[in-house]
Amino acid sequence: MLPIVLKLKLATTAAVGLAASAGPAPLPAEALAMTVVERATSPVEVRLFDENLRVSATVGIRRDGTMDSQTTAEVKRLFRCRQTNRQKPLARRTLAMLADLAEQYDPKPIEFVSAYRVQDGESATSPHRDARALDFRIRGVKLPEIRDYLWRTYTEVGVGWYPSEQFIHMDTRPTLHDTAWTFLSGVNHYHPYWSEAARRPATTESAVPRHRSGV
Ligand SMILES: [Zn+2]
Repeated sequence: MLPIVLKLKLATTAAVGLAASAGPAPLPAEALAMTVVERATSPVEVRLFDENLRVSATVGIRRDGTMDSQTTAEVKRLFRCRQTNRQKPLARRTLAMLADLAEQYDPKPIEFVSAYRVQDGESATSPHRDARALDFRIRGVKLPEIRDYLWRTYTEVGVGWYPSEQFIHMDTRPTLHDTAWTFLSGVNHYHPYWSEAARRPATTESAVPRHRSGV
């Protein structure tokens, strides 16, 4: 984990230094290409905070959700089932979304509540049981912002908003249709208002004002 993070920092510093020294002149094509390649292949520094054990960890996850073998083992351990201590790697697409969030809200830590869950009582169809889901919040970011960002940006996902429990559930579901819900008073409310609003094209919203009554 450490070498990757270090490499990321060095690469960033080098890119900044290069840009600063180059001034108004364009970057040499070769150097620019290197910077682009570095960005695509270098891992994102993902700061995690384990909400249950109150411990922090920083891991390097690439934007496609892959990691080096040491980090893979570390992440699998971090996201283990807390009831059974069993481990299963979190789905690659879920990890890619996690890396994306870490980059979006850098350097805020992602506080995770729950990931892999395989204990008795966990539903057979739960994406947690299949290690595709993560429940989390991001310190300093309002939950609706995270919720809408995920729903707007991704397809083949499940996004749940838990305002009372103060977390967002996200999962990847390649074989199922997108599902959005709000969890209130112990019940899932599907197709909530925010899921329509978040995916509505901005132009439609401004061209055809809706729900104006009561303003
Ligand atoms: Zn969940």
